[in-house]
Amino acid sequence: MKNYSRRRFINRAVKGGMAIGAMASAMPLSAGCVAESTAKNLPLAGEFDICVLGGSCTGVFAAVRAARLGAKVAVVEKQNCFGGVATSSLVNIWHSIYDTEHKIQIIAGLTTETVERLKKRNAVVTNENNPNSYYRFNSQELKIELDELVVENNVTPFLHTLFSEPRLDADGRLAGVIIDNKSGRSLIRAKYFIDATGDADLCLRLGLETYESGMLQPPTTCAHLENWDSAAFSATLKAHGAEFNIPDGFVWGGNLPSTKTYMLAGTRIYGRNCAIADDLTQAEIEGRRQIRAIMDMMRKYSPESATALTALPSYIGIRETLHVKCLYQVSDEDAMYGKRFDDAIASGSYRLDLHHHDKPGITFKYLDGTEDYSRPGYPGVKGRWRPEMPVDPTFYQVPLRSIIPQKHSNLMVAGRMLDAAAIAFSGIRVMVNMNQLGEAAGVTSYLALSKNIPVSRVSAKDVRETMRRGGSIVI
Ligand SMILES: Cc1cc2nc3c(=O)[nH]c(=O)nc-3n(C[C@H](O)[C@H](O)[C@H](O)COP(=O)(O)OP(=O)(O)OC[C@H]3O[C@@H](n4cnc5c(N)ncnc54)[C@H](O)[C@@H]3O)c2cc1C
Repeated sequence: MKNYSRRRFINRAVKGGMAIGAMASAMPLSAGCVAESTAKNLPLAGEFDICVLGGSCTGVFAAVRAARLGAKVAVVEKQNCFGGVATSSLVNIWHSIYDTEHKIQIIAGLTTETVERLKKRNAVVTNENNPNSYYRFNSQELKIELDELVVENNVTPFLHTLFSEPRLDADGRLAGVIIDNKSGRSLIRAKYFIDATGDADLCLRLGLETYESGMLQPPTTCAHLENWDSAAFSATLKAHGAEFNIPDGFVWGGNLPSTKTYMLAGTRIYGRNCAIADDLTQAEIEGRRQIRAIMDMMRKYSPESATALTALPSYIGIRETLHVKCLYQVSDEDAMYGKRFDDAIASGSYRLDLHHHDKPGITFKYLDGTEDYSRPGYPGVKGRWRPEMPVDPTFYQVPLRSIIPQKHSNLMVAGRMLDAAAIAFSGIRVMVNMNQLGEAAGVTSYLALSKNIPVSRVSAKDVRETMRRGGSIVI
């Protein structure tokens, strides 16, 4: 596991060839924050109780839960829409909301509320027989649904707006964030902050301790294709992928409901950490090159199943970059043995899903102790990662402490930068789980605000009860 302070992360980026311009824009003015005098001269974009940075479902759900409790909330998103990987990167699959035996419902809240809203638009299908592809939805309809959720709940949206730098008060308390958008630079003041940027942008710029898990899951550029033939693709890739320099080892996807459009997640870019500007640029270009290579390969060797490329994502699908050191790290054993926590704020049943960074394929580890090494076009290799136990766990949990950073009393993280070891993270990272982390962060920040206390001093019992009252299942 590699630890990164902000300075070390920048040093690594420089050694890795980060462009001077990109580095300059990432460099801290002083200890990672904008000087008070500079910030004072900036126009005020707004004053809020809670400011959420990053508007994936994680960020939007955090904002909506806090707003429903009565907080004045802003959500800042750099893309033109909300939804993050689920919309901008085209990933349109949510996993099961039940335990592994499909007996106990473990997830509800805004996840199921959003699914019910999508159903009214014929924009989601449910497959109860497949926990790994439980909901397939239309990412474009989800964009509109999230707009409506934000507006209906009086959350103030900032789209096309990049969070740039934090602003500290004289006493060192996080007091605001500098944003950049069409209107220039401005300041948002707030009492509490939630970093839901996926890449820990706020935490990194605050100089908080971050780390790579040691098994960095590779990013993937997805694509929309017409009349896709998955079987033909896997066979052709196995036979001819090397000729087109297409890395072998991973295919995932699903049809958009009521369309002939297939979302293919069939590329992978090794050795790039997309929290580093230059890695992100190179990954975007390499991801699109691989999509073109896939199309060329299919035209040459499988012309009968050749298809049309109809859409590319507005940003590459990022599985993992950095994790923030919090009050507790979810260990691999916690997830693999389904440890229960008194301060659990989320339960998940998605298999532990290790996208190898150093070899083709994926290893799935299941809570019943079995595992499966899977590589497209090759038979799976089944085995056990532990001996049989009298009773297997049917879900794992995430404690509240793993989304509360060790410093800054008015800051939480939500999303894939949570504090989790590599194998635990490989399962926790999926969206139905991230959605719950967002809701928990929104509720906890509201409770801290209402009592004017640090987020670390909010009672987990209160968080769990308030989440339940708002529609979440909290076990
Ligand atoms: C190819 C691929 C396939 C996957 N398949 C599945 C699947 O089938 N099912 C599943 O559930 N999960 C899947 N995952 C995992 C899942 O999508 C991610 O783990 C999850 O989306 C992480 O959510 P997040 O909110 O933490 O991050 P993100 O979805 O990345 O959201 C971060 C948000 O913050 C915004 N942001 C970032 N920096 C800034 C900034 N400085 N200022 C303002 N805004 C900012 C981004 O634009 C984005 O909207 C997949 C991931 C990938 C990449």
